[in-house]
Amino acid sequence: MKENQYRKPDRYYQAGVVISRALTLILLMLSVLLPWGISPWNTAVAETPQITDLRSGQLETASRLVIETSDPVPVSLLLLVDPHRLVVDFPSSRWRVEDRGASGGLSSPLLKGYRFGSPAPNISRLVIDLDGPAVPEQIFWLPPRNGNHRLVIDLVDRGETAFRVAALALQTNQNMAFSSPPTASSQDDAPGSQVPLPQPRPRPPVTVTDTLTTDNGTANVPPARPSTQTRDEAKWVVFIDPGHGGKDPGAISIHGHKEKDITLKAAKELAKQLEATGQIKVVLSRDRDQFLHLRKRIELARLHQADIFISLHADAAPSSKARGVSVFTLSDTASDKEAELLASRENKADLIGGPDLGATDPEITPALLGIFQREAMNQSSMFANELMLAFDDLPTLKRGHRFAGFAVLKSPDIPSVLIEMGFLSNSQDESYLVDASYRRKIMQGVTQAVLRFLENNNHNLPNEIAINP
Ligand SMILES: [Zn+2]
Repeated sequence: MKENQYRKPDRYYQAGVVISRALTLILLMLSVLLPWGISPWNTAVAETPQITDLRSGQLETASRLVIETSDPVPVSLLLLVDPHRLVVDFPSSRWRVEDRGASGGLSSPLLKGYRFGSPAPNISRLVIDLDGPAVPEQIFWLPPRNGNHRLVIDLVDRGETAFRVAALALQTNQNMAFSSPPTASSQDDAPGSQVPLPQPRPRPPVTVTDTLTTDNGTANVPPARPSTQTRDEAKWVVFIDPGHGGKDPGAISIHGHKEKDITLKAAKELAKQLEATGQIKVVLSRDRDQFLHLRKRIELARLHQADIFISLHADAAPSSKARGVSVFTLSDTASDKEAELLASRENKADLIGGPDLGATDPEITPALLGIFQREAMNQSSMFANELMLAFDDLPTLKRGHRFAGFAVLKSPDIPSVLIEMGFLSNSQDESYLVDASYRRKIMQGVTQAVLRFLENNNHNLPNEIAINP
């Protein structure tokens, strides 16, 4: 019995050894068969990774950059301004692209050229010269082909503000893991036919940018080309979204005033004031009594490369005593019960228009856009603070900057706010909201805040980086 008791673990131990030896063999075989081996043996014999190809092309909605490597190495991205550049950092790698030298041209609409170098012994750096403020919206590795791994980066020009949001987001998120393609149809990296992109718009006047400090920032990449845009003609784009519309009236006051009419009047007043500054071009989500899905409102703003998204509302509160002006920005959790209720009711308003067939599942939002959205939320908060300051002179109660999950605020790369100009469920607020002079007053505050935010918010973008030691 005793012997057996001692033997038992022995046998288990031996079985364990056999299993672990079998596993070792399997892993060894795998590490030979799979060039991206995850086993420790592979790293032991690993050679310096190689960049084996670089090509670009045009998809229907994006410019695609494909970088082939001998190994699936970790990469990090940065965006630089003046001029616009994308920086892709690899672990120390060799440039082994057959028909391309370490610098040269690229011929896609958004991709002009590239340079490859090593700013430090352990870093290899590829700088892509962009034609305009193009941001990477998707990045993923494709399964190896001919022994090479393909890193795919899809870039889209959504304007200067989206670029700034992306640049700041990438600066603070340097260790991202990019894995498999987001959809099965992306398995092929072949760029499609040449499709023209929307014309880039001129850039509004900006203040001087700061310098990015890198670990090895001793030498700088000279600007690839001077900016040729005439900045005098440039204007900011402010997207104004009058809430509700068409078959969705929004809140209705006891006197029969409809929110959808008040938001439209307020939007037109704001548009007039912003245009009068001479520095801003306004785009309205609707300029008449029309139903629009929330997603459509965001799409329109992104299409027009908006610098700010402002949704205007005058909802009903659960209590008729509730009154005052609030500025909402997006967050995962609401700041208070009333905010939560308002957002959930607003989001349900979308259902009035029937199912939104083109709606994408938020769960499959590309990881990169999720990172940009965090930064857009930071910027939205800064804009909300400017608004609250500008509302100091309003006769109404200031309810402050609040947070909730409003669907209409989910642009991944545009600072977005929702202004509750007052509650139609409160008779005092109602009398303000239907009064053109109150709307003029509140929109004076918004105009002031918009200008302050846009003028002050162009600092701290990196514009210099080392490529050689
Ligand atoms: Zn509303």
